[in-house]
Amino acid sequence: MTMSYLKGLIYSMERLLKNKKFDDIDENLKFIEEKIAYCAQKSGRKYEDIKLMAVTKTVDPVFVNHAIEKGVKLIGENKVQELLLKKDSLMESEVHLIGHLQTNKVRSVINHVNMIQSVDSVKIAQEISRQAVKYNLSMDVLVEVNIGREESKHGFFYDETLEAIDQIRAMNAIKVKGLMAIPPANCDEIKNRHYLSGMYKLFIDIKSKKLDNVSIDILSMGMSDDFHTAILEGSNLVRIGSALFGARNYN
Ligand SMILES: *Cc1c(COP(=O)(O)O)cnc(C)c1O
Repeated sequence: MTMSYLKGLIYSMERLLKNKKFDDIDENLKFIEEKIAYCAQKSGRKYEDIKLMAVTKTVDPVFVNHAIEKGVKLIGENKVQELLLKKDSLMESEVHLIGHLQTNKVRSVINHVNMIQSVDSVKIAQEISRQAVKYNLSMDVLVEVNIGREESKHGFFYDETLEAIDQIRAMNAIKVKGLMAIPPANCDEIKNRHYLSGMYKLFIDIKSKKLDNVSIDILSMGMSDDFHTAILEGSNLVRIGSALFGARNYN
């Protein structure tokens, strides 16, 4: 066997694998869209009322772009560095940061995202506002709620959330658009529903206050394992990674 023969073989294998992955994404996306439509209808809404975010951490831009070509409009990255690395390779789409943000990274990311879903402290909101003023923009944010009161997670506790929003809405260049939550992983269906419905209640409570300078319209909850339940409980933005792109490979 010659070297060029081997190279050719490897190239064909890679192409086969890539095509297989494209097909998998198509199939997964169809399944997800059908499930969203079904749950939207069951909860008295329409498919268009629910936003589908493709969560793209560790996913090669080739596959992200494939999902965009197939109609996904919203992309979520959870690390600033990865977001900045991939952003320029992506086709036209709306990009949100969904992971914990450190104060010193705000400056580098603020001009590259359409929304920051992970505002988990008043301090980070202050820095976002400060940098947004510098860039002469207004940043849309979601306030993250640590609904399970987990040590390992960021976000405000349930009963701190209103007070936090009250402080954030007074800041200059930041606009609160809703709430985001990541309920505890690996809990049973009943507990999971309890957290999700708790989030919906909080969302409705805060929305009904009609606070000035805030529009509480987005409830971002539901991931690969629980997006159907999340929609049934009132979510209108689901963040889906592995159910769309397959299991993540962190190498
Ligand atoms: C990774 C991630 C998701 C998606 O998780 P999957 O279980 O793969 O769907 C959603 N939200 C956030 C904040 C994430 O970091």
